[in-house]
Amino acid sequence: MLCPDCLTPKIETLENSASENFTSEMMNRFPYDCPMRTRSRRGDPPFFALTVVVPLVTALLLVSSLPAGAAPRVAVSLKPLHSLVAAVMEGAGSPELILRGASSPHTYSLRPSEARLLEEADMVFWAGGALEAFLEKPLAALGSRARIVTLLQAPGVALLPARRGGAWDDDAQHGGVGESAPEEASADGHLWLDPANAKAIARAAADVLGQVDPANRGRYAANAVRLAARIDALDAELVVRIAPVRGVPYVVFHDAYQYFERHYALRPAGSVAVSPERTPGARRVREIREKIRGLRARCVFGEPQFPPALLATLTEGTEARTGVLDPLGADLSPGPDAWFALMRSLGGSLATCLR
Ligand SMILES: [Zn+2]
Repeated sequence: MLCPDCLTPKIETLENSASENFTSEMMNRFPYDCPMRTRSRRGDPPFFALTVVVPLVTALLLVSSLPAGAAPRVAVSLKPLHSLVAAVMEGAGSPELILRGASSPHTYSLRPSEARLLEEADMVFWAGGALEAFLEKPLAALGSRARIVTLLQAPGVALLPARRGGAWDDDAQHGGVGESAPEEASADGHLWLDPANAKAIARAAADVLGQVDPANRGRYAANAVRLAARIDALDAELVVRIAPVRGVPYVVFHDAYQYFERHYALRPAGSVAVSPERTPGARRVREIREKIRGLRARCVFGEPQFPPALLATLTEGTEARTGVLDPLGADLSPGPDAWFALMRSLGGSLATCLR
């Protein structure tokens, strides 16, 4: 027997407020064991059961009478992943985006409005705990109410281990991870920056959306094929754009670009862990400048949240130029084109600064 808790998210979307009131009344009187709420009224007489079961069946009919072909409500954690899922859903529906703006997913905490998006979703796509620890508990709390798709575990996605040691500064952002599987926990979570992974994400999204929403299965599959062709075209463009600067060393403030670097055979020299909010002390500044000089970095890349004055301070007295890379597309409008704009912007920044 279905538990009324499992029904409420769907029923709440019905515009008929009478049915909503009816549902909450029904929930209060529901006589069966419920996996989420251990309330039992087994001893009630058959008449009571009838008065509850008949309206429950009516409620089920209301749910199944939602417009044919209506897409499931989908929420996606980060803008680049949202972009790929939005492209797969084009023509069927639009996913909601959880994390907007320039905040880092490594250190984020969920706002109430974002928690609500999760609670209303039939499906949630996220990279996984290695990148988005802030979603681990809220997603676990959803239980079976929504289908959770962890893209770090998606078929065809190739993972790289997070870099540590040597010229790669220990980054507090990339610390230990809650309850992820060992392989996933040690993985670099910025998986969407490899075009091959982006295509695997699109295929996985089309598969799982098609399972939940069979009426649109063909559309999702066709969209994923079209998206893969677009990704291949951009990839070919970026190979040409980046070719002249392969082998030119550079330094980043956040080791987020490994997937991109491997794919395009770039030569990152290392990372410097710097907080965008705070200029390091004089001794640390000297160390950073020495490291930049020692690594012969042609360019030092900050991210949009790093003030240009901080970049200027840290590269003063070195040969390095400064540039900005943005692994999340903070300033981009969300939607099917965001992933493409993000990749083009990364390629453009690297090609320009390293020339
Ligand atoms: Zn990171």
